[in-house]
Amino acid sequence: MSSNVSITKYTGSPDSLRKSIDLCAGLQNLKQSDQILIKPNLVVWEDIFPIAPFGVYTTTRLVEDLIICLKDFGCRNIRIGEGSVENNKKKGTGAAFEGLGYKAFKKKYGVTLIDFNESDADEFLYHGEHKLHIAKEAVESDFFINFPVLKTHSQTKISLGTKNLKGCLKLKSKRHCHNPESNLEFAFSHIADFVKPDLTIIDGVYALERGPLHFGKAYRKDLIIASTDMFAADLIGAHIIGYSGADIGHLGHYAQRHAKPLTIDQYSIIGENISDHVQPLKWDWRWTNDNTGPGIFEKLGITGVALPKYDETLCSRCANIPNITSILTLSAFKGKPLPKVEILNGKKMKAREGYEKTILLGNCIIKANRDNKNINEAIWVKGCPPPDDDIVSAMQSAGLDANILAYHGFLKQESKKYEGKIEFDRAFFNA
Ligand code: SF4
Repeated sequence: MSSNVSITKYTGSPDSLRKSIDLCAGLQNLKQSDQILIKPNLVVWEDIFPIAPFGVYTTTRLVEDLIICLKDFGCRNIRIGEGSVENNKKKGTGAAFEGLGYKAFKKKYGVTLIDFNESDADEFLYHGEHKLHIAKEAVESDFFINFPVLKTHSQTKISLGTKNLKGCLKLKSKRHCHNPESNLEFAFSHIADFVKPDLTIIDGVYALERGPLHFGKAYRKDLIIASTDMFAADLIGAHIIGYSGADIGHLGHYAQRHAKPLTIDQYSIIGENISDHVQPLKWDWRWTNDNTGPGIFEKLGITGVALPKYDETLCSRCANIPNITSILTLSAFKGKPLPKVEILNGKKMKAREGYEKTILLGNCIIKANRDNKNINEAIWVKGCPPPDDDIVSAMQSAGLDANILAYHGFLKQESKKYEGKIEFDRAFFNA
């Protein structure tokens, strides 16, 4: 048997988090003088159509419970760091801190908030000469507390402790992980070789199906998983949402490098009975068999247009493209075949034969298809990421009657979809 992993029921009291930490002896190596870094998951912030936070963000309530616990221990030097996706300049980590109540932590507890996007970075080599640039504060902390959410992910199946560390990377390294030659899960699994969490707490107050954003479905789960061994916490978290270690690429890569067992029976589980809490959650979105669009296209009889499925090379700042292009295509469909247009994204898709026009969304896919002989007429939408308005214009110029209001309506509906449901309590995301 190796590391202990605690599974604790969240009862609504701060004692739940304390219990989860105590059960796994989570603070056994902490010193009062330590510089502590807490890394929650504040993936991205949206002002106009706010993200329904359940299962997307680490709950502010548990982060506050943790801060109080550390203060009671005698620690005075506490930082919270994150590198949220910046869809708009100045609307990244700072906006997430503000929107989720973290600014109050500064006043109440003297906690320092750090935007890793603005941090200096240390450079680390992995697997020969590949480089990762990691925020200095993440690497140099004395005691690193990794605080992810119990969620699935549309590219990596799960997003728990290992994946949460990706937020410590500088933008160029995040992009590097999504390069076709990098192998996304192989690349980011190495962050944990340089940022070594002393304690990992998986916030399972809510669990998220088809994450990482709110377009999937959240469930109230009321669970906390904790361990001083991040890999073990991930393995147990994965099991609870229906995945074995062997299912998950990044866990496999990490296990191989560190000679870690990939089966949960090799770890000591304390607290709740794990089998009482297993709830398989889907991670993937269904696409048509001929790879021309999401499953709903088939259901509605949409033909002509083709939106091949996003792949692992689509990085976070372009992550809205599958949604916006799907919804705009739905808005253009009036019951008749649509123009023969193919719409590509990411970094490695190749235009197929048989389309009159090919829309290339973003600098990467333009580059990847510059000499593609299958393209009759290319419509380039430059940008990193390409602006939404330019995507709409490109689709309209290709003969698709795309209506941006349909996309806005979709975002509004997703934003409000848990309203009125008592188990989805926004107070969890206020300090
Ligand atoms: S264009 Fe999109 S896929 Fe390419 S680097 Fe920029 S955000 Fe990533």
